[in-house]
Amino acid sequence: MFLIKSFPNVKQLSNLTSLRIRLTLGIAAVSILGLSGVVILICWQMQSILVVTHKNNTRYIAERFPSDVKIYSDMVSLQEGTKKAIDNLSNPQTLLWVKTPQGEILAQSQALKMGMRGTNLISLTDISPQPELQRVNNRYWLLCSTKLVVKGVDLGQFYIAQDITKDQTMFLSLMRTLLLVSLIATIFITGTIAWYIQTSLQPLKRMSHMTKYISPETLGEVQIQLENAPSEVKELAHTLQTTLTRLSHAWEDQRQLVSNVSHELRTPLTVVSGYLQSTLRRGNNLTDIQREALETASSEADRTIQLLQDLLDLARAENGRMYFHLETIVLNELLAEIEGMVYQYSLPIQISLPDELVKVKGDKNRLKQVFLNLIDNAVKYSHSLEPIIIKLSQDKQQANIQVCDRGVGIPLADQTRIFERFYRVDEARSRNVGGTGLGLSIVKTLVEGMGGTIQVISQPNQGTTFTILFPVS
Ligand code: ADP
Repeated sequence: MFLIKSFPNVKQLSNLTSLRIRLTLGIAAVSILGLSGVVILICWQMQSILVVTHKNNTRYIAERFPSDVKIYSDMVSLQEGTKKAIDNLSNPQTLLWVKTPQGEILAQSQALKMGMRGTNLISLTDISPQPELQRVNNRYWLLCSTKLVVKGVDLGQFYIAQDITKDQTMFLSLMRTLLLVSLIATIFITGTIAWYIQTSLQPLKRMSHMTKYISPETLGEVQIQLENAPSEVKELAHTLQTTLTRLSHAWEDQRQLVSNVSHELRTPLTVVSGYLQSTLRRGNNLTDIQREALETASSEADRTIQLLQDLLDLARAENGRMYFHLETIVLNELLAEIEGMVYQYSLPIQISLPDELVKVKGDKNRLKQVFLNLIDNAVKYSHSLEPIIIKLSQDKQQANIQVCDRGVGIPLADQTRIFERFYRVDEARSRNVGGTGLGLSIVKTLVEGMGGTIQVISQPNQGTTFTILFPVS
């Protein structure tokens, strides 16, 4: 069972950069090479031992035969002596025969004569002087032939055939068993290695899983604890934990700084703005140049106050210190209220409301802030006189509010980034229309803080639609 679990699937196998696949394939390749090397060596050794023994035996007969014939022919004729020598050296596994130069059989082993076995051997012509393994009639023969000259008489060609079928069959079946065993051993070793590597890499996987969903908000809460992990991985986890803790402190310090600076600057700037506005209101004897300068200073002060307020809001949201006064809100009423607030915009704002009441849980002021921000953007980034359309609808258990404009649109590549802090699509274009680049990130923080989601669909020069979804209450 563990083999099935630990063997990587096809998708994992294609990922050759994975440490697990690399190690498994590497070790499996080495073990396959090692095992096949051993098997080949064993087979080669066994084959040599088997063949060499028989070859030596064949050579011995080939060397001894002429002297045997000579000894026998001292008592009888050369032909008779040849027959006797053949009878003497033949046995069930060794067949001998002599052919005259004319190709006739001068003498042959009894078994050949009786046609018991190996009769096809006699018809073979190209048998070399060195013993060679040949398969004849489904049997393995070691064959060799030499010239037979005794007492200066050319008796013809002497042939030796050794039947090694039994040994060769045994060797072949042994080789098959060995191959099968090594195949099973390879599969087993590879499976065991894959399982072992997977188990060893488990702590690294757990660590990556633990750190996968870390966000700036959860940096300080992460605890990387690995039981039974190798010491190297534990050390890595410890280092990562220390780094995360340091990062969390740095992040917290940065948020605190932004929050404090925004807060400290906002108060004096509000005072400055108040003085500028009252001076402008009461300054009847101001020259045109002085009035223009004061107006610029006042609008810049207001813009900076807005930026500081946005920064403060974001810092509070990230600290988890942004509190929502949640209540049931009838979106139809809220949007009608907003319609009354936006009449001063240069573009017509059309609000389309359904007959049924759409209720959500939210903070009224924060929701107003969200819609006013989106309407403000829609007006800022529209250069035609096409109206801005706000559509409310209810779809199953969701309230759906769309803010659509026919303005400049947002290129696809920027659509995922516009919710980032200080991100502006085209700095030059955006600077002309004012803004800080924080509006949409505040909108997103507020919407998500109240349990909703926000999406954007846009096409350059066609227009943009922001869709906000809230669960209905
Ligand atoms: P800004 O203060 O610059 O408006 P926002 O966070 O509100 O900052 O918007 C980020 C960027 O998204 C803007 O600079 C603008 O380029 C783009 N954007 C936002 N709303 C629209 C819109 N309705 N049409 C086109 N572009 C938009």
